[in-house]
Amino acid sequence: MAKAMPKHIAVIGAAIAGLSAALAAAKAGHHVTIFGQAPRHLGGALQLAPNGFAALARLGIEGTIAPHMTRLSAIELRSARTNGCLSIIDHEAPVRRDYASVGRAQLVSALLDAAEAHKHIQFDERLIEGIKAGNRSASLQIKDEILSFDVIIGADGKDGLARQLISPQAKEAATRCALRTAVPAATLPRTFSAKRCQLWLGDGFHLVSYPFADGAEVNLVLCTKDSAEENHEMIAAHVKDNPVLACLADDEITWHRTPLPEASQLATWRKGHVILVGDAAHFMPPHLAQGAGQTLEDAASLYEALVQHDDMTSALKGWSVRRARTLAPIIERAQSTGALMRLSGPFSRLRNAAIELGGQRLIESWLKNIWHA
Ligand SMILES: Cc1cc2nc3c(=O)[nH]c(=O)nc-3n(C[C@H](O)[C@H](O)[C@H](O)COP(=O)(O)OP(=O)(O)OC[C@H]3O[C@@H](n4cnc5c(N)ncnc54)[C@H](O)[C@@H]3O)c2cc1C
Repeated sequence: MAKAMPKHIAVIGAAIAGLSAALAAAKAGHHVTIFGQAPRHLGGALQLAPNGFAALARLGIEGTIAPHMTRLSAIELRSARTNGCLSIIDHEAPVRRDYASVGRAQLVSALLDAAEAHKHIQFDERLIEGIKAGNRSASLQIKDEILSFDVIIGADGKDGLARQLISPQAKEAATRCALRTAVPAATLPRTFSAKRCQLWLGDGFHLVSYPFADGAEVNLVLCTKDSAEENHEMIAAHVKDNPVLACLADDEITWHRTPLPEASQLATWRKGHVILVGDAAHFMPPHLAQGAGQTLEDAASLYEALVQHDDMTSALKGWSVRRARTLAPIIERAQSTGALMRLSGPFSRLRNAAIELGGQRLIESWLKNIWHA
Protein backbone atom coordinates (compact mmCIF):
# COMPACT_ATOMS: atom_id res chain seq x y z
CA MET A 1 0.00 0.00 0.00
CA ALA A 2 1.12 3.54 -0.73
CA LYS A 3 2.83 5.24 2.20
CA ALA A 4 1.53 8.59 0.95
CA MET A 5 -2.16 9.51 0.46
CA PRO A 6 -3.71 7.74 -2.55
CA LYS A 7 -3.21 9.78 -5.72
CA HIS A 8 -5.21 9.93 -8.96
CA ILE A 9 -3.04 8.58 -11.75
CA ALA A 10 -3.83 8.65 -15.49
CA VAL A 11 -2.40 6.03 -17.82
CA ILE A 12 -2.34 6.75 -21.58
CA GLY A 13 -2.61 3.54 -23.60
CA ALA A 14 -4.41 0.28 -22.79
CA ALA A 15 -1.96 -2.26 -24.22
CA ILE A 16 0.72 -4.30 -22.38
CA ALA A 17 2.50 -1.29 -20.86
CA GLY A 18 -0.63 0.67 -19.92
CA LEU A 19 -2.51 -2.25 -18.37
CA SER A 20 0.48 -3.56 -16.39
CA ALA A 21 1.45 -0.06 -15.15
CA ALA A 22 -2.19 0.58 -14.13
CA LEU A 23 -2.22 -2.70 -12.18
CA ALA A 24 1.06 -1.66 -10.50
CA ALA A 25 -0.23 1.77 -9.46
CA ALA A 26 -3.55 0.36 -8.21
CA LYS A 27 -1.75 -2.38 -6.27
CA ALA A 28 0.26 0.40 -4.60
CA GLY A 29 -3.05 1.90 -3.40
CA HIS A 30 -3.65 4.65 -5.98
CA HIS A 31 -6.73 5.43 -8.08
CA VAL A 32 -6.13 4.92 -11.79
CA THR A 33 -7.89 5.95 -15.01
CA ILE A 34 -6.71 4.21 -18.20
CA PHE A 35 -7.23 6.21 -21.41
CA GLY A 36 -7.48 4.61 -24.88
CA GLN A 37 -8.90 1.39 -26.26
CA ALA A 38 -7.37 -1.99 -25.54
CA PRO A 39 -6.22 -3.44 -28.89
CA ARG A 40 -8.87 -6.04 -29.77
CA HIS A 41 -7.62 -7.79 -32.89
CA LEU A 42 -4.01 -8.54 -32.06
CA GLY A 43 -2.48 -11.45 -33.93
CA GLY A 44 0.67 -13.39 -33.24
CA ALA A 45 2.64 -14.02 -30.11
CA LEU A 46 5.71 -13.07 -28.14
CA GLN A 47 8.31 -14.85 -26.05
CA LEU A 48 8.65 -14.28 -22.32
CA ALA A 49 12.03 -14.95 -20.69
CA PRO A 50 12.75 -15.50 -16.95
CA ASN A 51 12.80 -11.76 -16.20
CA GLY A 52 9.27 -11.41 -17.66
CA PHE A 53 8.04 -14.30 -15.49
CA ALA A 54 9.67 -12.73 -12.42
CA ALA A 55 8.02 -9.38 -13.14
CA LEU A 56 4.57 -11.01 -13.39
CA ALA A 57 5.19 -12.65 -10.00
CA ARG A 58 6.29 -9.32 -8.47
CA LEU A 59 2.99 -7.85 -9.69
CA GLY A 60 1.08 -10.83 -8.29
CA ILE A 61 -0.50 -11.69 -11.68
CA GLU A 62 1.55 -14.72 -12.76
CA GLY A 63 -1.46 -17.00 -12.15
CA THR A 64 -3.61 -14.87 -14.48
CA ILE A 65 -1.19 -15.19 -17.40
CA ALA A 66 0.06 -18.76 -16.77
CA PRO A 67 -2.90 -20.55 -18.45
CA HIS A 68 -2.10 -18.73 -21.73
CA MET A 69 1.59 -19.61 -21.81
CA THR A 70 3.19 -22.37 -23.86
CA ARG A 71 6.47 -23.53 -22.31
CA LEU A 72 9.40 -23.55 -24.75
CA SER A 73 12.13 -26.04 -23.84
CA ALA A 74 15.01 -24.53 -25.86
CA ILE A 75 16.19 -22.03 -28.44
CA GLU A 76 17.65 -23.80 -31.45
CA LEU A 77 19.93 -21.80 -33.75
CA ARG A 78 20.19 -23.01 -37.35
CA SER A 79 21.91 -21.95 -40.52
CA ALA A 80 19.33 -20.66 -43.02
CA ARG A 81 21.71 -21.70 -45.82
CA THR A 82 22.36 -25.35 -44.89
CA ASN A 83 19.60 -25.83 -42.27
CA GLY A 84 22.30 -27.37 -40.03
CA CYS A 85 21.95 -26.89 -36.26
CA LEU A 86 24.53 -24.38 -34.96
CA SER A 87 23.72 -24.45 -31.26
CA ILE A 88 20.97 -25.16 -28.74
CA ILE A 89 20.22 -23.11 -25.64
CA ASP A 90 18.56 -25.66 -23.42
CA HIS A 91 15.99 -24.22 -20.98
CA GLU A 92 15.62 -27.51 -19.09
CA ALA A 93 19.20 -28.50 -18.27
CA PRO A 94 21.44 -27.99 -16.39
CA VAL A 95 18.92 -25.61 -14.77
CA ARG A 96 15.23 -25.33 -15.53
CA ARG A 97 14.57 -21.85 -16.83
CA ASP A 98 11.15 -20.21 -17.20
CA TYR A 99 10.68 -19.51 -20.90
CA ALA A 100 7.39 -19.43 -22.81
CA SER A 101 5.38 -18.02 -25.66
CA VAL A 102 2.09 -16.23 -25.17
CA GLY A 103 -0.43 -14.97 -27.71
CA ARG A 104 -0.51 -11.16 -27.78
CA ALA A 105 -4.32 -11.13 -27.72
CA GLN A 106 -4.37 -13.57 -24.77
CA LEU A 107 -1.79 -11.54 -22.81
CA VAL A 108 -3.63 -8.24 -23.34
CA SER A 109 -7.01 -9.76 -22.56
CA ALA A 110 -5.71 -11.40 -19.33
CA LEU A 111 -4.20 -8.06 -18.22
CA LEU A 112 -7.46 -6.32 -19.17
CA ASP A 113 -9.52 -8.81 -17.12
CA ALA A 114 -7.25 -8.19 -14.10
CA ALA A 115 -7.54 -4.40 -14.53
CA GLU A 116 -11.34 -4.54 -14.97
CA ALA A 117 -11.62 -6.58 -11.78
CA HIS A 118 -9.69 -3.97 -9.75
CA LYS A 119 -11.96 -1.57 -7.87
CA HIS A 120 -9.49 1.33 -8.16
CA ILE A 121 -9.09 1.14 -11.94
CA GLN A 122 -11.50 2.82 -14.33
CA PHE A 123 -11.50 3.15 -18.11
CA ASP A 124 -12.02 6.03 -20.50
CA GLU A 125 -11.73 4.94 -24.14
CA ARG A 126 -11.09 8.42 -25.52
CA LEU A 127 -7.83 9.29 -27.28
CA ILE A 128 -5.61 11.85 -25.61
CA GLU A 129 -4.77 14.92 -27.71
CA GLY A 130 -2.32 16.75 -25.48
CA ILE A 131 -0.26 16.35 -22.29
CA LYS A 132 1.22 18.96 -19.94
CA ALA A 133 3.72 18.17 -17.21
CA GLY A 134 3.90 20.13 -13.97
CA ASN A 135 6.26 19.66 -11.03
CA ARG A 136 3.57 18.29 -8.69
CA SER A 137 0.80 17.33 -11.14
CA ALA A 138 0.07 16.88 -14.84
CA SER A 139 -2.85 17.36 -17.22
CA LEU A 140 -4.41 15.80 -20.30
CA GLN A 141 -6.35 17.36 -23.10
CA ILE A 142 -9.27 15.70 -24.90
CA LYS A 143 -10.89 18.10 -27.38
CA ASP A 144 -11.67 21.24 -25.29
CA GLU A 145 -11.56 19.42 -21.97
CA ILE A 146 -8.53 19.58 -19.65
CA LEU A 147 -8.26 16.84 -17.01
CA SER A 148 -5.82 17.16 -14.08
CA PHE A 149 -4.06 14.27 -12.35
CA ASP A 150 -1.36 13.84 -9.73
CA VAL A 151 0.68 11.71 -12.15
CA ILE A 152 0.45 10.72 -15.82
CA ILE A 153 1.99 7.46 -17.05
CA GLY A 154 2.70 7.57 -20.79
CA ALA A 155 2.21 4.03 -22.12
CA ASP A 156 1.22 5.10 -25.61
CA GLY A 157 4.01 3.39 -27.55
CA LYS A 158 7.07 4.51 -29.45
CA ASP A 159 5.20 7.07 -31.61
CA GLY A 160 2.97 8.36 -28.83
CA LEU A 161 2.49 11.86 -27.42
CA ALA A 162 4.22 11.10 -24.12
CA ARG A 163 7.55 10.17 -25.71
CA GLN A 164 7.33 13.32 -27.87
CA LEU A 165 6.66 15.46 -24.79
CA ILE A 166 9.70 14.14 -22.96
CA SER A 167 12.06 13.85 -25.89
CA PRO A 168 10.97 15.49 -29.15
CA GLN A 169 13.08 13.84 -31.83
CA ALA A 170 13.12 13.79 -35.59
CA LYS A 171 12.11 10.31 -36.75
CA GLU A 172 14.43 8.51 -39.13
CA ALA A 173 12.93 6.24 -41.77
CA ALA A 174 13.40 2.55 -40.94
CA THR A 175 15.58 0.61 -43.36
CA ARG A 176 14.77 -2.80 -41.82
CA CYS A 177 11.42 -4.50 -41.37
CA ALA A 178 9.79 -7.53 -39.75
CA LEU A 179 7.44 -9.73 -41.78
CA ARG A 180 5.12 -11.43 -39.29
CA THR A 181 2.43 -14.06 -39.41
CA ALA A 182 0.70 -16.65 -37.24
CA VAL A 183 -0.58 -19.83 -38.90
CA PRO A 184 -2.39 -22.95 -37.65
CA ALA A 185 0.28 -25.50 -36.71
CA ALA A 186 -1.63 -28.23 -38.54
CA THR A 187 -0.93 -26.50 -41.88
CA LEU A 188 2.87 -26.64 -41.44
CA PRO A 189 5.40 -29.52 -41.26
CA ARG A 190 5.75 -31.05 -37.79
CA THR A 191 9.12 -29.44 -37.11
CA PHE A 192 7.36 -26.07 -36.58
CA SER A 193 5.23 -27.60 -33.81
CA ALA A 194 8.21 -28.58 -31.62
CA LYS A 195 7.83 -26.69 -28.32
CA ARG A 196 10.99 -24.71 -28.83
CA CYS A 197 12.02 -21.44 -30.43
CA GLN A 198 13.82 -22.00 -33.74
CA LEU A 199 16.05 -19.25 -35.11
CA TRP A 200 17.46 -19.47 -38.65
CA LEU A 201 20.42 -17.17 -39.25
CA GLY A 202 20.85 -16.24 -42.91
CA ASP A 203 22.65 -13.94 -45.27
CA GLY A 204 21.39 -10.48 -44.20
CA PHE A 205 18.28 -11.82 -42.47
CA HIS A 206 16.96 -14.10 -39.71
CA LEU A 207 13.72 -15.96 -39.19
CA VAL A 208 12.19 -16.92 -35.83
CA SER A 209 9.51 -19.56 -35.32
CA TYR A 210 7.79 -20.91 -32.21
CA PRO A 211 4.43 -22.45 -31.35
CA PHE A 212 1.89 -20.76 -29.08
CA ALA A 213 -1.69 -21.32 -27.86
CA ASP A 214 -0.65 -24.73 -26.53
CA GLY A 215 0.85 -25.63 -29.89
CA ALA A 216 -2.26 -24.85 -31.97
CA GLU A 217 -0.59 -21.94 -33.78
CA VAL A 218 2.92 -21.06 -34.96
CA ASN A 219 4.32 -17.54 -34.77
CA LEU A 220 6.77 -16.62 -37.54
CA VAL A 221 8.86 -13.44 -37.89
CA LEU A 222 11.39 -12.72 -40.62
CA CYS A 223 13.61 -9.64 -40.12
CA THR A 224 15.36 -8.25 -43.17
CA LYS A 225 16.20 -5.14 -45.19
CA ASP A 226 13.04 -3.34 -46.26
CA SER A 227 12.34 -3.20 -49.98
CA ALA A 228 9.69 -2.23 -52.52
CA GLU A 229 8.88 -5.91 -53.16
CA GLU A 230 5.55 -7.49 -52.15
CA ASN A 231 5.61 -9.46 -48.89
CA HIS A 232 5.26 -12.82 -50.67
CA GLU A 233 8.11 -12.06 -53.05
CA MET A 234 10.34 -11.07 -50.14
CA ILE A 235 9.52 -14.23 -48.19
CA ALA A 236 10.07 -16.45 -51.24
CA ALA A 237 13.46 -14.86 -51.97
CA HIS A 238 14.67 -15.63 -48.42
CA VAL A 239 13.30 -19.15 -47.90
CA LYS A 240 13.26 -20.81 -51.32
CA ASP A 241 16.64 -22.61 -50.95
CA ASN A 242 16.06 -23.97 -47.44
CA PRO A 243 14.44 -27.44 -47.41
CA VAL A 244 12.41 -26.72 -44.23
CA LEU A 245 11.57 -23.04 -44.71
CA ALA A 246 10.61 -23.28 -48.40
CA CYS A 247 7.03 -24.22 -47.41
CA LEU A 248 6.56 -20.67 -46.03
CA ALA A 249 6.52 -19.28 -49.58
CA ASP A 250 2.86 -20.16 -49.78
CA ASP A 251 0.34 -17.67 -51.18
CA GLU A 252 -2.19 -18.74 -48.56
CA ILE A 253 -0.03 -17.33 -45.75
CA THR A 254 -0.62 -13.62 -45.16
CA TRP A 255 2.44 -11.76 -43.89
CA HIS A 256 2.24 -8.35 -42.19
CA ARG A 257 5.08 -5.89 -42.50
CA THR A 258 6.27 -3.83 -39.49
CA PRO A 259 9.04 -1.23 -39.97
CA LEU A 260 11.94 -1.72 -37.53
CA PRO A 261 13.60 1.61 -36.74
CA GLU A 262 16.92 1.62 -34.92
CA ALA A 263 16.63 1.99 -31.16
CA SER A 264 17.20 5.43 -29.72
CA GLN A 265 18.05 6.06 -26.08
CA LEU A 266 16.13 8.71 -24.19
CA ALA A 267 18.22 10.83 -21.83
CA THR A 268 15.33 10.81 -19.35
CA TRP A 269 12.03 8.97 -18.86
CA ARG A 270 10.36 11.73 -16.86
CA LYS A 271 9.21 15.32 -17.09
CA GLY A 272 7.82 16.53 -13.77
CA HIS A 273 4.94 14.21 -12.91
CA VAL A 274 4.77 12.57 -16.37
CA ILE A 275 6.72 9.31 -16.73
CA LEU A 276 7.12 6.80 -19.58
CA VAL A 277 6.77 3.01 -19.56
CA GLY A 278 6.98 0.32 -22.25
CA ASP A 279 7.91 1.14 -25.84
CA ALA A 280 7.29 4.83 -25.13
CA ALA A 281 10.34 4.70 -22.85
CA HIS A 282 12.56 2.02 -24.36
CA PHE A 283 11.64 1.09 -27.89
CA MET A 284 14.22 -1.41 -29.14
CA PRO A 285 14.38 -3.76 -32.13
CA PRO A 286 12.91 -7.18 -31.21
CA HIS A 287 16.21 -9.10 -31.56
CA LEU A 288 16.42 -10.03 -27.86
CA ALA A 289 12.65 -10.63 -27.54
CA GLN A 290 12.70 -8.27 -24.54
CA GLY A 291 10.34 -5.33 -25.29
CA ALA A 292 7.32 -6.73 -23.47
CA GLY A 293 9.40 -8.46 -20.77
CA GLN A 294 11.09 -5.16 -19.90
CA THR A 295 7.68 -3.46 -20.01
CA LEU A 296 6.45 -5.86 -17.31
CA GLU A 297 9.64 -5.08 -15.36
CA ASP A 298 8.82 -1.35 -15.66
CA ALA A 299 5.49 -2.02 -13.97
CA ALA A 300 6.89 -4.31 -11.25
CA SER A 301 9.65 -1.85 -10.34
CA LEU A 302 7.22 1.08 -10.43
CA TYR A 303 4.98 -0.71 -7.92
CA GLU A 304 7.99 -1.24 -5.63
CA ALA A 305 9.07 2.42 -5.94
CA LEU A 306 5.54 3.65 -5.15
CA VAL A 307 5.27 1.61 -1.97
CA GLN A 308 8.78 2.47 -0.79
CA HIS A 309 8.50 6.28 -0.92
CA ASP A 310 6.36 8.70 1.09
CA ASP A 311 6.82 11.40 -1.49
CA MET A 312 5.51 10.84 -5.04
CA THR A 313 8.06 13.16 -6.70
CA SER A 314 11.00 11.26 -5.13
CA ALA A 315 9.43 7.93 -6.11
CA LEU A 316 9.07 8.98 -9.77
CA LYS A 317 12.51 10.59 -9.89
CA GLY A 318 14.36 7.61 -8.36
CA TRP A 319 12.42 5.02 -10.40
CA SER A 320 12.91 6.76 -13.77
CA VAL A 321 16.66 7.23 -13.26
CA ARG A 322 17.16 3.60 -12.15
CA ARG A 323 15.10 2.11 -14.98
CA ALA A 324 16.75 4.25 -17.68
CA ARG A 325 20.20 3.19 -16.37
CA THR A 326 19.18 -0.49 -16.31
CA LEU A 327 17.73 -0.38 -19.81
CA ALA A 328 20.59 1.50 -21.52
CA PRO A 329 22.89 -1.56 -21.90
CA ILE A 330 19.93 -3.80 -22.84
CA ILE A 331 18.90 -1.46 -25.66
CA GLU A 332 22.53 -1.39 -26.84
CA ARG A 333 22.64 -5.19 -26.72
CA ALA A 334 19.44 -5.41 -28.80
CA GLN A 335 21.08 -3.14 -31.39
CA SER A 336 24.31 -5.12 -31.52
CA THR A 337 22.40 -8.42 -31.68
CA GLY A 338 20.57 -6.97 -34.70
CA ALA A 339 23.89 -5.98 -36.28
CA LEU A 340 25.16 -9.58 -35.88
CA MET A 341 21.95 -11.07 -37.21
CA ARG A 342 22.02 -8.95 -40.36
CA LEU A 343 25.61 -9.77 -41.35
CA SER A 344 25.79 -10.82 -44.96
CA GLY A 345 28.08 -12.66 -47.37
CA PRO A 346 31.22 -14.22 -45.87
CA PHE A 347 30.62 -12.38 -42.55
CA SER A 348 27.35 -14.25 -42.05
CA ARG A 349 29.18 -17.56 -42.54
CA LEU A 350 31.89 -16.49 -40.06
CA ARG A 351 29.20 -15.58 -37.51
CA ASN A 352 27.53 -18.97 -37.91
CA ALA A 353 30.90 -20.74 -37.55
CA ALA A 354 31.62 -18.78 -34.34
CA ILE A 355 28.21 -19.73 -32.88
CA GLU A 356 28.83 -23.37 -33.77
CA LEU A 357 32.23 -23.29 -32.07
CA GLY A 358 31.19 -21.22 -29.02
CA GLY A 359 27.99 -23.20 -28.46
CA GLN A 360 25.50 -22.71 -25.66
CA ARG A 361 28.04 -21.10 -23.31
CA LEU A 362 28.77 -18.24 -25.73
CA ILE A 363 25.09 -17.41 -26.21
CA GLU A 364 24.22 -17.80 -22.52
CA SER A 365 26.90 -15.28 -21.59
CA TRP A 366 25.51 -12.88 -24.24
CA LEU A 367 22.02 -13.12 -22.72
CA LYS A 368 22.67 -13.82 -19.05
CA ASN A 369 22.50 -10.29 -17.63
CA ILE A 370 19.34 -9.60 -19.56
CA TRP A 371 17.33 -12.63 -18.52
CA HIS A 372 18.34 -12.10 -14.92
CA ALA A 373 18.18 -8.27 -14.95
C1 LIG B 1 8.34 -8.14 -34.66
C2 LIG B 1 8.29 -7.94 -33.18
C3 LIG B 1 8.47 -9.03 -32.34
C4 LIG B 1 8.49 -8.86 -30.94
N1 LIG B 1 8.69 -9.94 -30.13
C5 LIG B 1 8.76 -9.78 -28.79
C6 LIG B 1 9.01 -10.89 -27.94
O1 LIG B 1 9.14 -12.04 -28.40
N2 LIG B 1 9.10 -10.70 -26.59
C7 LIG B 1 8.95 -9.44 -26.05
O2 LIG B 1 9.06 -9.29 -24.82
N3 LIG B 1 8.70 -8.35 -26.83
C8 LIG B 1 8.60 -8.50 -28.19
N4 LIG B 1 8.34 -7.41 -28.98
C9 LIG B 1 8.16 -6.09 -28.36
C10 LIG B 1 6.73 -5.90 -27.81
O3 LIG B 1 5.78 -6.22 -28.81
C11 LIG B 1 6.56 -4.45 -27.38
O4 LIG B 1 7.65 -4.06 -26.56
C12 LIG B 1 5.28 -4.26 -26.59
O5 LIG B 1 4.18 -4.72 -27.33
C13 LIG B 1 5.11 -2.77 -26.26
O6 LIG B 1 3.87 -2.56 -25.66
P1 LIG B 1 3.38 -1.07 -25.29
O7 LIG B 1 2.13 -1.24 -24.55
O8 LIG B 1 4.51 -0.31 -24.70
O9 LIG B 1 3.15 -0.36 -26.71
P2 LIG B 1 2.00 -0.52 -27.81
O10 LIG B 1 1.66 -1.96 -28.01
O11 LIG B 1 2.48 0.26 -28.99
O12 LIG B 1 0.71 0.16 -27.17
C14 LIG B 1 0.50 1.53 -27.10
C15 LIG B 1 -0.99 1.77 -26.94
O13 LIG B 1 -1.21 3.15 -26.73
C16 LIG B 1 -2.36 3.54 -27.47
N5 LIG B 1 -2.28 4.98 -27.73
C17 LIG B 1 -1.40 5.63 -28.53
N6 LIG B 1 -1.65 6.93 -28.53
C18 LIG B 1 -2.71 7.12 -27.71
C19 LIG B 1 -3.45 8.29 -27.33
N7 LIG B 1 -3.13 9.51 -27.77
N8 LIG B 1 -4.48 8.14 -26.46
C20 LIG B 1 -4.80 6.90 -25.98
N9 LIG B 1 -4.16 5.76 -26.34
C21 LIG B 1 -3.12 5.89 -27.20
C22 LIG B 1 -2.27 2.70 -28.74
O14 LIG B 1 -3.54 2.61 -29.38
C23 LIG B 1 -1.79 1.38 -28.18
O15 LIG B 1 -2.86 0.54 -27.82
C24 LIG B 1 8.31 -7.57 -30.38
C25 LIG B 1 8.10 -6.47 -31.24
C26 LIG B 1 8.09 -6.64 -32.61
C27 LIG B 1 7.89 -5.44 -33.50
